[in-house]
Amino acid sequence: MSQHYSSVAVVGGGASGMIAALTAAEVPGRHVLLLERQQRIGRKLLATGNGRCNLTNRDAGPADYFGTDPSFAAYALTHFRSVDTQRFFAHLGLLTTTEPDGRIYPLSDSSNSVLDVLRFGLDRAGVELRCSFPVEEIQADRRGYTLRSGTEQVHAEAMILACGGAAGAKLGGVTDGYRLGKALGHRRSSLYPSLTRILTDPEYPRSLKGIRVQAALTLTRHGHVLARSSGEVQFTETGISGPAGFDLSRAVSFGGEGQMLHLQLLPFDEEAVFRLVQARQKQFPDLETSELFTGMLHNRLGRVVVKAAGLSAAAPLSSLSETELRSAAGQCTDFRLPVRGVDGFEAAQVTAGGLLTEGFDPETMQSKIHPGLFACGEVLDIDGPCGGYNLQWAWASGRLAGRLGA
Ligand SMILES: Cc1cc2nc3c(=O)[nH]c(=O)nc-3n(C[C@H](O)[C@H](O)[C@H](O)COP(=O)(O)OP(=O)(O)OC[C@H]3O[C@@H](n4cnc5c(N)ncnc54)[C@H](O)[C@@H]3O)c2cc1C
Repeated sequence: MSQHYSSVAVVGGGASGMIAALTAAEVPGRHVLLLERQQRIGRKLLATGNGRCNLTNRDAGPADYFGTDPSFAAYALTHFRSVDTQRFFAHLGLLTTTEPDGRIYPLSDSSNSVLDVLRFGLDRAGVELRCSFPVEEIQADRRGYTLRSGTEQVHAEAMILACGGAAGAKLGGVTDGYRLGKALGHRRSSLYPSLTRILTDPEYPRSLKGIRVQAALTLTRHGHVLARSSGEVQFTETGISGPAGFDLSRAVSFGGEGQMLHLQLLPFDEEAVFRLVQARQKQFPDLETSELFTGMLHNRLGRVVVKAAGLSAAAPLSSLSETELRSAAGQCTDFRLPVRGVDGFEAAQVTAGGLLTEGFDPETMQSKIHPGLFACGEVLDIDGPCGGYNLQWAWASGRLAGRLGA
């Protein structure tokens, strides 16, 4: 039972740590201490969703998550669903709005609103905040946990490890949580950057830099499909980004050498695109081949597709053979980019991998090694796709950890 913990230290003032602290503080008389290594809490939260904070997703469910054992997340996610996140935040005073694709944002469209209501909530609940307090060492003894930062130390009967992951280094992503967990006897899996830019052969992306398209993406390796996604893709100097690209980055991280990215640039099959360009040839025989896709694709993209098909840009459409038209249609429905890897942790939104969940109880988030030690959020070996799923995991697991086994 939680009631016997009269003092709790939460390590990490990010999304999961804040909700865990708020939850732990619901028990009257309990002293809750929130320790944060940076000068203020919630720095990463402010940067989420491009400053809008996509705080959850209407459709988030256990089947959407990854990890060595993704089933670990099911209990937390089914006991604290996205409607519960909305309800929890409504109670703190936050209005939210759900976009047609299921992403949920603060109605103010500003992540500041999310952090503000959390800060006010922590203040009202009497949670003691200690910023610029990087926990460097934790010692477990019979009375609980002693946490040291430099020459200072604090003691608590129970503690919650909510240090986040290595992603978003500029926003404070560090590996402290893994190190602290390891020192307490927990093991971790390998760490990979996820929800990050995919690096490809840069020739075509470079000339398309800044263009956004809606596309269906397939990732293959030696002809085998590794993963698929669809949605917005943005071309960059070195490859692709955007939600649909981000969602494949995890598979790229794990996939090994020789991967290929296939982009379907129009929502039609090859035969349908062939018929479109054939009709276009009849309608505009004098048009330059470089303009074959004008009006169908972004004009720069259309020209690149023509180039990739090996067609002569200046020749009139009337000069194109059926084989050439089919080749152009094929490039449009299967535009290929050889994959070189992913951007590092600095640019990544989330860490794939973390403290192995086999060391924790999924119904309480309590360590199986140390009673009174709990963990939540990204430090654990659970991650989700783009679209509010990772914060939903942070809220759901943080809420559960904050109950301290009750
Ligand atoms: C740019 C960016 C955009 C994102 N956008 C979204 C989005 O829109 N929707 C979504 O669902 N997810 C998004 N994510 C992912 C999401 O932010 C994280 O998954 C989530 O914040 C994880 O919560 P957490 O509490 O586990 O870790 P964090 O929020 O990272 O918090 C961990 C905290 O612990 C502190 N800490 C670390 N070590 C110590 C220590 N030794 N002592 C004391 N404190 C310590 C850190 O400083 C940090 O404040 C985004 C991530 C990034 C980087």
